[in-house]
Amino acid sequence: MGVLKTKKVNTRKTHDCHGCGHSYPAKTKMRYVVSQDGGDIYSSYYCKTCDEVLDKIYDYVDLDNGIIFGSVKDWDMSLWEDIHLKYK
Ligand SMILES: [Zn+2]
Repeated sequence: MGVLKTKKVNTRKTHDCHGCGHSYPAKTKMRYVVSQDGGDIYSSYYCKTCDEVLDKIYDYVDLDNGIIFGSVKDWDMSLWEDIHLKYK
């Protein structure tokens, strides 16, 4: 598992955040991540909240196994909600 490319984008259509499973409308700033697992290429979107949570706890999480859909919110629900309120 490796990250090939990551960038911040303004979405052009609705996307579900891979970290928390929430659906975000078009024109939302999200992080777009392309990763590789064996021969497979995956692309996913992360909302600002999950992006910040990942940033804070990156050192404690083994990302080599990939991130299960919706799991960023489950790691630390109170941290996630604190950050999410900030962006409302
Ligand atoms: Zn999210």
